[in-house]
Amino acid sequence: SDVSVTPTRILTKLKHECATPLPLLQQVAEAMSDDMRAGLGLGLEPGLPMIPTYVENLPTGNEKGLFYALDLGGTNFRVLRVQLGGKDERVIHTEFDQVSIPQHLMSATSQELFDFIASGVAKFASKEDARFHISPGRKREIGFAFSFPVKQTSIDSGILIKWTKGFAVSGTAGRDVVACLNEAMERQGIDMRVSALVNDAVGTLAGAEYWDNDVVAAVILGTGTNACYVEQISVIPKLQGHASSSGKMIISTEWGAFSNSLPSTEFDREMDAATINPGEQIFEKTISGLYLGEIVRRVLLKMTNEEGLFGKSVPQKLSTPFILGTPDLCAMQQDISGDLHAAGSLLYDILGVESNLSERKTVLEVCETIVKRGGRLAGAGIVGILQKMEEDQRGLIFGNGNRSVVAIDGGLYEKYPQYRAYLQDSVKELLGTEKSNNVVIEHTKDGSGIGSALLAASNSIYK
Ligand code: ADP
Repeated sequence: SDVSVTPTRILTKLKHECATPLPLLQQVAEAMSDDMRAGLGLGLEPGLPMIPTYVENLPTGNEKGLFYALDLGGTNFRVLRVQLGGKDERVIHTEFDQVSIPQHLMSATSQELFDFIASGVAKFASKEDARFHISPGRKREIGFAFSFPVKQTSIDSGILIKWTKGFAVSGTAGRDVVACLNEAMERQGIDMRVSALVNDAVGTLAGAEYWDNDVVAAVILGTGTNACYVEQISVIPKLQGHASSSGKMIISTEWGAFSNSLPSTEFDREMDAATINPGEQIFEKTISGLYLGEIVRRVLLKMTNEEGLFGKSVPQKLSTPFILGTPDLCAMQQDISGDLHAAGSLLYDILGVESNLSERKTVLEVCETIVKRGGRLAGAGIVGILQKMEEDQRGLIFGNGNRSVVAIDGGLYEKYPQYRAYLQDSVKELLGTEKSNNVVIEHTKDGSGIGSALLAASNSIYK
C-alpha cells in the first residue's frame, strides 16, 4: 500500500541501536564462548554459571522397562510414564497427566507444596494399566525435571538455591529437592525413587538425543531461556578430580545470565531497572518471551508521549507494565492485510488505542526491530556454543561429513515464525554456507518430559 512509515526520531534511533550486523553477531558469539570457558574454570575469571548437571550418561535407545517423569517448572506440573522397549521397539506406550498448581500453594510451605505434588504422582501411578509393567524386584524410577536454580552434586540430588517465576514457598531453599519429594512420597505411601534430577534444557537434550545421536546441544526459548550441551570432563577445570565413566557431562550454561557486548537501548535499561532482578539475566531479558512485548510497549509509550503516536491522548493502558505480551506481537506480525485491520483490532483490544494505517505500520516496525534483534542474538549464542565445542575438539562440529544437531524447544521458538526465521538466518550468516551444511537446528516439542523419564532409565540404579 502507499502509506509509508514516517521515520521518526525515536524509530530511527531504535533501529540503529538494535541493529545486529554480522560483526556484532560475531562478537557476541565470541564473547559467549569466552564466557563459557571462563565459567568452566576455577572461578578466577567471571563467566557464565556453567552448572555441572552430573548427567554423564545420555539415553542410547537401548533402555528398557517402565519409567516415570515429573516436570515442575511453572504453574503446571506434569507426570508421565513410559514403557521403553529398547532399540527396536523404542517407546511402546506413554501416558501423561497435567495438574495446575493452585495459587495458594505457590506461597505455602515446602511440605504443603510437595505433598500436593506427591499426591498428584500417587493418583497418576494408581491408574497404571496392564500395558505398563515393572521388572520384578525394581522400584518405579522417576526423572524429576525441576526448572529452578539448584546446586547439584550428584545426578539424584540438588539443593534449591531460590524459587523463581512467582514461587515463594517457604522452607525449601537450602534443602535437597529430591529429599523433599521423597519424604512427601513416603507420606503418601508410594514407593518410588528419583534417579535423575534435571532441568528442562537437559531433559530436552536427552529426549532429542534418544532419537538422534548427533544432538550436541539443546536450547529453551520460552518465557525464559537456557541452553545446555555435552562437554568433555577433561576441559572442565572446576570438576578436576571428578571420576566419570563416559568422560562427558552435560553442562547447563545458564546463558540467560550472559551480558557481554549485547546491544542495549534506554528501553532495555529502564525495563531491567524495574524488574525484581535488576542487572541480572540480561541476555534473557533481550531474547526471551517474557520480555519482548514489554520492550515494545516501552517504545510505543515514549512514541506516544513525545511524538504523538496514536494522537494526543496518552492511553492509560499503555502505561501498564507487561500488558503487551510477546504472543500479541506475534499475532500483529501475522497480519498481512493491506490495511492491517487485525493488528489495529489488537491494538484497540489490548491497549485501548485507535490507530491509522501509518501508526500500525510504525507499531509493526517496532515489533520487527525488537524481535529481529532477539532472534538474531539467540542465533549468535548458539554459534558461540558450537564454536566453543569445536575449539576444544577440532572437527567435532564442523568436520567433514559431520552432522551436529541443536534441539530447540519452547513456546517462543515454536509459535513465532519470524523469530524462528531470524534465529536460523543468524546461524547461517555466522557459519557461512559450508559450515552451516553440517549444522541442523531442530524443533523438538515437549522433549523434556519424556527426556527426564529417559534419564531416569539411563541413570537407573538397577544396571
Ligand atoms: P515456559 O517457558 O513458561 O515453560 P513455554 O515453552 O510454553 O513455557 O513458553 C511460553 C512462552 O512462549 C510465553 O511466555 C510466550 O512468551 C511465548 N509464546 C507463547 N505463545 C506464543 C505465540 N503465539 N507467539 C509468540 N510467543 C509465544
